[in-house]
Amino acid sequence: MKVLVINCGSSSLKYQLIDSETEKALAVGICERIGQEVSHLKHTPAGGEKIVIETSMKNHEVAIQMVLDALTDANHGVIKSLDEISAVGHRVVHGGEKFASSTIITEEVVNAIEECNDLAPLHNPANLIGIRACANLMKGVPMVAVFDTAFHQTMPPKAYLYGLPHEYYDHYKIRKYGFHGTSHSYVSKQAATFTGLDIENSKIIVCHLGNGASISAVLNGKSIDTSMGFTPLAGLVMGTRSGDIDPSIIDFIAKKENKSIDQIMNLLNKESGVQGMSEVSSDFRDINAAIIEGNQKALIAFDVFVYRVAKYIGGYVAAMNGVDTIAFTAGVGENDSKVRDEVCEYLGYLGITIDKEKNLVRGQEMMLSTPDSKVKVCVMPTNEELAIARETVALL
Ligand code: ADP
Repeated sequence: MKVLVINCGSSSLKYQLIDSETEKALAVGICERIGQEVSHLKHTPAGGEKIVIETSMKNHEVAIQMVLDALTDANHGVIKSLDEISAVGHRVVHGGEKFASSTIITEEVVNAIEECNDLAPLHNPANLIGIRACANLMKGVPMVAVFDTAFHQTMPPKAYLYGLPHEYYDHYKIRKYGFHGTSHSYVSKQAATFTGLDIENSKIIVCHLGNGASISAVLNGKSIDTSMGFTPLAGLVMGTRSGDIDPSIIDFIAKKENKSIDQIMNLLNKESGVQGMSEVSSDFRDINAAIIEGNQKALIAFDVFVYRVAKYIGGYVAAMNGVDTIAFTAGVGENDSKVRDEVCEYLGYLGITIDKEKNLVRGQEMMLSTPDSKVKVCVMPTNEELAIARETVALL
């Protein structure tokens, strides 16, 4: 069957039409600048040329109508009629404690997602707009919500509770939720198969290193800990996010620079991380180029990033009392051999050795560890859209 996968942001909408039998994308695309005067749709049919349509999309419903028109267009379309779309899978960022797995969307589910808006004010409302727009335009087509947080709902309280008075959990559900769950779930399963493990009896660490980055400890197929927290700001040093810092720094900067909490949160989310530290870029390609030119701030940003990754891996080896497989994924994890090499250097104590030639790989499945390495290390490309399509099909 054909599944339309929708990832709706506040002003953008990414989509893929996936054939669940072949697991191939028939078309991929994005609508950008929705709600602005000039919006555009970029649509690429499989094996075809990318087309760009500039127009005004005053809201997400208009954007989705344009996507449906593009999919059925006589020239660059990939299906004859909308009847060929059997289901829609929606990425939803926050499912709170309500959703421990994907779910078929009903009116009650929409209301329950809305109740989680508080926890992800930038993302959940946009996801809901996409859901409502599809429901209006594709009446009767079943829809599924796949949550970024759901995979991590198996974490035990000792992993998800913060050292705060318990009432903050009771009243506001302040706890670690974790994100990138669709990717951690998909990659851990793929990595288990790839490295010859029975997922039910396995210890896997997934390093999802993209612009946003998180690591998870997956014991017997279930997430038992992850580096992101109440929000995606926690954990690793990321492209522009600080990751873990001493919370007192917020108060200190507020007083020194007379800044509001909102301004400091913006600083921590958008001006920090590898970009803030290096004063070069959030992109590892630029960081690597700057290091070659001798830029010391780029080098220290790189070192801090790698060191934090290695420490989280060490922590998760302790949490699981061992590790069978470590998988690298997402933009940096799939492409940056220097990051992988240096992370693995820290892990020599685990008996990890990697093949430097194989580690030069980019964006494809690869076993990096040597046959005598005590832990398997691999590159496993993530595919969140395919994971959403699989979940959608499984539920229907
Ligand atoms: P997100 O989905 O969080 O936006 P991605 O997983 O797409 O991020 O990762 C994007 C990042 O991947 C870029 O910012 C860049 O740092 C890194 N990246 C992409 N290609 C390469 C490459 N060839 N070498 C090194 N890093 C790369």
